[in-house]
Amino acid sequence: MSETIPQPGTVTRSATGGAAGRILRSVDELVGGTPLLRLPLDGVPGDVRLCAKLEMFNPLANVKDRPVLAMMRDAEESGVLPATGGTVIECSSGSTGISIAAFCARRGHRCIIVMPDNATEERRQILREFGAEIVLVPHQDGLLPAWKYAEELQQSIPGSWLAHQDENPANERAHYETTGPELWEATAGRIDVLVCGVGTGGTLTGAARYLKQRKDVHVVAVEPAGSPVLSGGEAGPHGIPGIGAGYVSDIMDLDLIDEVVVVPDEEAAPTAREVSRRIGMLVGVSSGAAAYAARLLSRRERWAAATMVAVFPDSGERYLSTALG
Ligand code: PMP
Repeated sequence: MSETIPQPGTVTRSATGGAAGRILRSVDELVGGTPLLRLPLDGVPGDVRLCAKLEMFNPLANVKDRPVLAMMRDAEESGVLPATGGTVIECSSGSTGISIAAFCARRGHRCIIVMPDNATEERRQILREFGAEIVLVPHQDGLLPAWKYAEELQQSIPGSWLAHQDENPANERAHYETTGPELWEATAGRIDVLVCGVGTGGTLTGAARYLKQRKDVHVVAVEPAGSPVLSGGEAGPHGIPGIGAGYVSDIMDLDLIDEVVVVPDEEAAPTAREVSRRIGMLVGVSSGAAAYAARLLSRRERWAAATMVAVFPDSGERYLSTALG
């Protein structure tokens, strides 16, 4: 019997990268180390190994915990943000804002999130729970005026820090240092295809940069058909929150993309629902978009026996009042 009981100091490989086997000092330690799940989707040929990287296992239930933690640590180390009592500003329509608000609450910073006025009520509620102040800007104008407003706000509040996920190199570096190595390790270097939605492009750029340094992994960017900017089309409104920002951010490295798959709104939410029922866990709309793109690719002769990974940025629970409702 006794040999089945883990000895002190034994690292248990788990969803939290070993965190289950010890007492944690802070929620920061729960960021990253997310699981990779085999995705049993209809229409995917039997010899293809399709997996999903489940980023909803981060503490704020979103992939954004990784870059937010990295950006805040950088700011603290360089001295632009004190350990406590600072003011943090960010422009975000959802997930980044929630992660920043939570990390600010724990550290004792004032947090101001500039967001489009069509952000869902549940997102605003979560921000308020963490004590963040919300500034709403008209959504019709897109995110660029919101960024400009956030920059002006930062200049008007002495000592404040604007995280600026679109320009901050810690965004993609977080994925280079964590997401990429985790994918490499979990697949034992067998990953052939990475399928990833693009918001700021931090996930794709960081993870792809790491993987391509090891192997010629085929990197597939996923974007909404309604805003196909990476495919050379026009920015526009669409129904896949978190991706398709309508412009290419400064941290995005387009050279890492081998192929772009465009996903219609009408496919993203139904695929998310199909995946949710199949795996027994709610997945978000952009996860549905990634799964849709991965299934299309899996049917190609070239990937007949490939290991493919689709990144699932968040859970479906924050979309029940909208796209998944
Ligand atoms: N999906 C969702 C739900 C997201 O919130 C985000 C991040 N905004 C992404 C996809 C894309 O992540 P990234 O900014 O790293 O491209």
